[in-house]
Amino acid sequence: MQLSHDYAEHLPQLVRLSQGEEQPDPHLLFLNEPLALELGFDPGWLRSPAGLDLLLGHDTAHAMAYSGFQFGQFNPYMGDGRALLLGEARVGDVFLDLHAKGTGLTPFSRPGSDGRATLSSILREYLVSEAMHALGVPTTRGLAVISTGRKIQRGHVRPAGVGVRVAASHLRVGTFHYAQLGDGTNQLQALADYAISRHYPAAIKSENPYKEFFRLVVESQMRTVAKWQRLGFIHGVMNTDNTTISGQTIDYGPCAFMESYDLATVFSSIDNGGRYAYGNQPHILGWNLARLAESLLPLFSSDPNEAVSFAQEVMDFFPERFEEEMSAQWAAALDTTPEVFASYREALARRQPDLTQAHRALVAAVGNDSSLARELFDGEDFLSAYLSSEPSPKKVDDSFPRVIPRNRQLDAALKQAEAGDFGAYREMLEAVIHPWRPHPHFEEPDPTGLADFMTFCGT
Ligand code: AMP
Ligand code: MG
Repeated sequence: MQLSHDYAEHLPQLVRLSQGEEQPDPHLLFLNEPLALELGFDPGWLRSPAGLDLLLGHDTAHAMAYSGFQFGQFNPYMGDGRALLLGEARVGDVFLDLHAKGTGLTPFSRPGSDGRATLSSILREYLVSEAMHALGVPTTRGLAVISTGRKIQRGHVRPAGVGVRVAASHLRVGTFHYAQLGDGTNQLQALADYAISRHYPAAIKSENPYKEFFRLVVESQMRTVAKWQRLGFIHGVMNTDNTTISGQTIDYGPCAFMESYDLATVFSSIDNGGRYAYGNQPHILGWNLARLAESLLPLFSSDPNEAVSFAQEVMDFFPERFEEEMSAQWAAALDTTPEVFASYREALARRQPDLTQAHRALVAAVGNDSSLARELFDGEDFLSAYLSSEPSPKKVDDSFPRVIPRNRQLDAALKQAEAGDFGAYREMLEAVIHPWRPHPHFEEPDPTGLADFMTFCGT
C-alpha cells in the first residue's frame, strides 16, 4: 500500500524531507493488527523487511515544524526532533497520519540530542494510548513498537525503540504559531484551510469559516479533556505543541492516571508549579485555546478590534462552557442530575477515594450491592440522593470501566519488558484494551498510595 504525502504537498514550508536512520537490529515487537487492517495494510507485509523500512522512516518521510508554549514560555522553533511523518493512509474519505517516533536526528533536533527514544517510553505510549482508545477517549493510536537494537544513554544505558502511531493528524496549536513566523497571514490561512478541510469541513459553509473552525476546535478539545477528568487522566505536559487541532489526545510522555481523587495531583517530575495538575487541566486547555485564538486573529476579521472581541467572547465563556460540558458528560454517565453529580464531586474531594473504584462502587450500588459505596462515602448524603434518582444499572455499568493502566503496575511491567520479559506487559495490554472485563490483578488501587510516584518525560 502506498501512503500519500498530502500534508507535505499542501504545506511544503511546514515540513522538511527527512529520513529515519539505519537501525542495527530492528525487530517488530508489537503490531496492532486490527488497526493495520483498518488502515488497509496487509499485516504480513508490514512485518516484512519492506514493511519495516516504511515503519522506520526509510521511505519518503518528513519532519513536521511547529512552535510551542512550553510551561508558558514561547519556543518558536521546535518540530519533530526525533519523529517523522511517514505519510497518510486514506480510510474512507479521511486521511490518517502515520508517524514514527525515535527515528533519529532531523533538521529540528535540539543541539546535543540524539533523535532517539527509549523502548520503554515507546511501549508506555503504545499501551496508554490503546487504553485511552478502549476507554472511549479521542486519541492517537498505537500501530507498532519496534526495538532497534541500539543502546542509548538516559542516565544509564537503555534499549531504544521506534513507535509508530496513527492520528487524525499531527496539527497542533503550535503548528499555527509556526505558520505565522514565515510569510505571516498567507501561510497561516493555507494551514487553516487545510485544517478545516481535513477536520471540520462543515465550517466551510459558515459565514466566517475561521471563526467556526476555532469554535469547533474548542468544542472537540473540551469534550476530550472533560473525558480525561472523568477518568482521572493527567496528561502531564499540556504545552501548546501537545494540544491537537483534531481534539485527539497526543504525546503520552509523563502522563499518569490519578488514583486517590485530589485536584492538586501532579506526577510529572518537571511540573514543579503544578501547572498541569489534574484540577488545572481545564484551565490550561483554555489557556492553550486562547493562544490558538491569538494566532488566528488576522483570519477572524480584517478589523483587529472585531477579531479580538470575537476571541475574547469565546474565551470569556470558556470556563462556564467547560463546566457545563463536564457536568453534562458526568451526569449522563451516572445517569443522574447535574445536582447529584455536583454533590458526588464534593464528596470525592472530601473523601479522596480511588476514582475508578469509587465509580465502580456506585455501579455496584445501583446494582443493589451498596457495601463498598457505603464504606467509601460513609455519612455522605449524596449516595441516597443518587440511588433515589433511579439510575439505570446498564447505563452506569457501561460508563465506568473497571481497568485503567495503574501506574506502578505499568512501571513494573515496563521494567521487566526492558529486561526482555514481556509477560507482564502483554498481560496488562490485554487487560487495558478490555477495560470493562473483570480482572483479578488490575482493578484494585495501589495499596501503598501514589504520594511518592513520579513520571518522567522519559525521552
Ligand atoms: P515531546 O516531549 O516528545 O513532546 O518533545 C518535545 C520536543 O523535544 C519535540 O520538538 C521533540 O522532537 C524534542 N525532543 C524530545 N526528545 C528528543 C530527542 N531525544 N532528540 C531530539 N529531539 C527531541
Ligand atoms: Mg510533543
